[in-house]
Amino acid sequence: MLVAGYFRDGDGRDFTPREAVLRLVAVSGAPIYGVLNPSIGTGVVGGYMLDFRALGRLTAQAVNDHLHGTHLAQAPAASAMPNVLNVDWRQVRRWGIDERAIPDTAVVHFREPGLWEAHRLEVLLAVCVVLLQTGLIAGLIVERRRRKLAVQAEQKQRFELVHASRVAVVGELTGAIAHEINQPLGAILSNAEAAEMILASGARRPDELRQILADIRRDDLRASEVIRRLRALLAKHQVEHQRFNLNEAVGDVTSILRAEARRRGATLEILLPNPAVTMVGDRIQIQQVLINLVLNALEAVAELPEPRRRVSVEVEKTAGRVTLLVRDRGTGIAPDQMPRLFDSFFSTKSTGMGLGLSIVRTLVEAHGGRVTAENGVDGGAVFRVELPAAGANGKKKREQT
Ligand code: ADP
Repeated sequence: MLVAGYFRDGDGRDFTPREAVLRLVAVSGAPIYGVLNPSIGTGVVGGYMLDFRALGRLTAQAVNDHLHGTHLAQAPAASAMPNVLNVDWRQVRRWGIDERAIPDTAVVHFREPGLWEAHRLEVLLAVCVVLLQTGLIAGLIVERRRRKLAVQAEQKQRFELVHASRVAVVGELTGAIAHEINQPLGAILSNAEAAEMILASGARRPDELRQILADIRRDDLRASEVIRRLRALLAKHQVEHQRFNLNEAVGDVTSILRAEARRRGATLEILLPNPAVTMVGDRIQIQQVLINLVLNALEAVAELPEPRRRVSVEVEKTAGRVTLLVRDRGTGIAPDQMPRLFDSFFSTKSTGMGLGLSIVRTLVEAHGGRVTAENGVDGGAVFRVELPAAGANGKKKREQT
C-alpha cells in the first residue's frame, strides 16, 4: 500500500500525515510504502520520498540568488522535486523483502552495522592474533614432532651402542667362554673313552655305564647352557621391562666371569641374598652392567700380587631398593678423576675406549636407578648400583629400541 498521509479522516478527526501513517502501520497486514521522508521510522518500508531538506536547500538557493539580484523569472527552474529512495532496513527484514532488490542509490535507514563495519580494527586484530596463534601452534607441533624423532633416533643410536659394546665385551671374554665350553666337552670325551674301555673289557658294569651316560648328558647340558647364555648376551633383543630374579641373572654370568677371573689369576667372590630379590627391567642389560663393572675391577687388580687380586660382587636388598656392589682391592680412583669417571670416552687405560662406565650409567638410569663410585676404606674402588626392587605387582611391558 502506498500512503502519502492524511490530515483528517472521514469522522473529522485531525492528524499530521506522520500520525496517520503511524496508525495505519499499526493495523496493516501488508507492507506500507510512503512518499514523504518524515514517514521513515514510522513503520513504512520506504519509497521514493520527497526530500524536505533538499527542498529547503533549493528554496534557500533561490532566495539567495534573488537577494543577489537574479530575478526569479530568470532563475533556472528546478527540473523535478528532489525525490530519494529511502528504505527502512528493519521493515525490509520484517516483510522478508529480498535485499538484492534495493538499488545501490537507496538511502538505507536503521541498518545495524555488521561486525566488520562496526569493529573493523578489532576484527582485523583478532584475525591477526588467530593467524599468529595458528602459525605458532603449527610451528610448535612441527618442532615437537622433530624433537620426538630426534629423541627416537638418539635412543636407537644409544641402544645400538649398548649392543655393540656388549658384543665387544663378550669378545674380551672369549678365553673364558672357550674354557667354559671346553671343560664339559673334555669331560664328555673322557667319559666316552671310559665307556668304550668298559665295553671293550667285556665286563658287565651297567650301573657304571648308566652313570657315565648321566654325566655326559649333564656336561652336554652345561655346554649348551653356556652357548644359550652367550647367545642371549649377543642377541639384539628388544628392551624388556619385566620382573626377573636378580640372583638368577647374576648367577647366569657368574660362571663366565669366574672363569675370566681365574684366567687372570684373580678370585671373584659373589654374595647373593637369600631369599632371592626380584626387580623389574631388562635382565640382559643388568647383566651387562655387572660384566662391565667386574671387568674393570679385574683390570684394577691386575698388577697386584696374585693373592690380593680379589674382586667381590654383593647384592643386597634394602627397603624397596636393590643394591649391587662391586668391590676390588686395586689402585682406587684418583680424586681428580672422580667427576669424569662416567663420562663417555674417559679412560686412563692405554687401550681403553672409555665407554664401559658411561654405558653402565645409561643402563642403570634407564632402570630408574643410579650408580656411584667411591674408594673403599681398605683401598680399591667400590661401585654401588642402586635399583628399584620390584613391587608386589611389577608390571610387564615391552618397548621397541
Ligand atoms: P675403560 O675401561 O675403557 O677405560 P670405563 O668407562 O670402563 O672405560 O672406565 C673409565 C675409567 O674409569 C677407567 O679408565 C679407569 O681409569 C676408571 N675405573 C673404572 N673402574 C675402575 C676401578 N674398578 N678401579 C679404578 N679405576 C677404575
